[in-house]
Amino acid sequence: MLSSFELFKVGLGPSSSHTTGPMKAALRFVGFLAKQPGGQDVAKLDVRLYGSLALTGAGHHTDRAILLGLSGEQPETLMPKKADSIIAAISATNALALGGQAEIKFDPRIDIRFEGQTSLPFHTNAMRFNAFDAQGDLIASRIYYSVGGGFVVDEGEAGRNAKNDAPTDAPKHRFNNAHDLLAMADDAGLSIAQVMLENECMHQSREKIYEGLDEIWGHMHACMEHGLEREGMLPGALKVRRRAPGLHLKLRVQNPDPKQSCERSDWVNLWAMAVNEENASGGRVVTAPTNGAAGVLPAVINYYLNFVPGADDAGVRTFLLTAAAIGGLYKRNASISGAEVGCQGEVGVACSMAAGALAAVLGGSNAQIENAAEIGMEHNLGMTCDPVGGLVQIPCIERNAFGANMAIQAARLALLGDGKHAISLDEVIKTMHETGRDMNTKYKETSQGGLAVNIVEC
Ligand code: SF4
Repeated sequence: MLSSFELFKVGLGPSSSHTTGPMKAALRFVGFLAKQPGGQDVAKLDVRLYGSLALTGAGHHTDRAILLGLSGEQPETLMPKKADSIIAAISATNALALGGQAEIKFDPRIDIRFEGQTSLPFHTNAMRFNAFDAQGDLIASRIYYSVGGGFVVDEGEAGRNAKNDAPTDAPKHRFNNAHDLLAMADDAGLSIAQVMLENECMHQSREKIYEGLDEIWGHMHACMEHGLEREGMLPGALKVRRRAPGLHLKLRVQNPDPKQSCERSDWVNLWAMAVNEENASGGRVVTAPTNGAAGVLPAVINYYLNFVPGADDAGVRTFLLTAAAIGGLYKRNASISGAEVGCQGEVGVACSMAAGALAAVLGGSNAQIENAAEIGMEHNLGMTCDPVGGLVQIPCIERNAFGANMAIQAARLALLGDGKHAISLDEVIKTMHETGRDMNTKYKETSQGGLAVNIVEC
């Protein structure tokens, strides 16, 4: 069972699969290397990126992430300014402190190779690390896969077909799909959030869980606040201007207090875009379930806090637990990787998670929550991933705004019904997975199709 704290992870933007995952993989390789015979004698390293990681890695900061991981930095704790200074030092000296210790020669322009024509069978987001001694003899070599949402598996785990690196302790409530989850929750007289809470309680106290969930929301909220304030251009050749601060000003002129505003969807657009502009600039973001889709949940939580009478911190915890339960179903039975199934696996999944979670905090039954989550995905089926210029900006930033508004409509629609509906959440998850498998590779985070090839870069 996937914990909420596995799904919601703090890291640096712009991508959980192309930034956080590679950073974690590099860090894991440093730990692996230290245990190998001769692991202390490394004189040279090279890193090869394959498939989607190679094709969009430059725009997604994959090379930076590799350098930071090799330098021993953890995505959860690294601040953007420190990241910049480490990268600047490596670029100036062509040397890095492996694991934060022994310095080795490393020229990122030569020693990180983008091999976009090669794809490894387990997952398109593959990378190989090779370490050599001073004589040029290979000390160790390891392949890692970044399978979406910041999750990483190595070649051994991939051989066992393990698609996540979540803890394997037995949960109190085991469920493989939405059908089992609903049946078990109804038998036990629990809400979906309570099922998740009881599972989380196998690992830590209820107080610690609440503290952790409050921290997750705190990070999401801080990211949104930064996005509302920071003006200027986003990094990259597209020269996309940050829109959130200007939009914020306009909305505040119309009505300084969002709670009094009739234009709720304008505020939801703003909150989602603020998060994703922050993500696009390499800021600190919470995966929900990915970085590219990180704006949907915070925007819908802010909708709940601003527009729903009686909204409180306990409701935010319920929201996050419910969303994590739904996200875990996608992770287990389909994919949350744009490189594997297109954007339906990122913004589509975020929309489904947020829809179900909003239905929960608006008082929906488990059946209505499941219905909302199903609607949230049904109308995102087939959504491609075609980031322009390999950057997580167009269409990603606006797409989060639409995902958030669609989630709100999905929850409202489900709450008008009694939970009975024609297509189950399990069926839509299966359909999303199959659609993703059938999708042409050029629409799966390669920037070789769609908008990515129809916009002229200036
Ligand atoms: S188009 Fe969607 S899946 Fe692709 S990078 Fe953007 S947000 Fe992620």
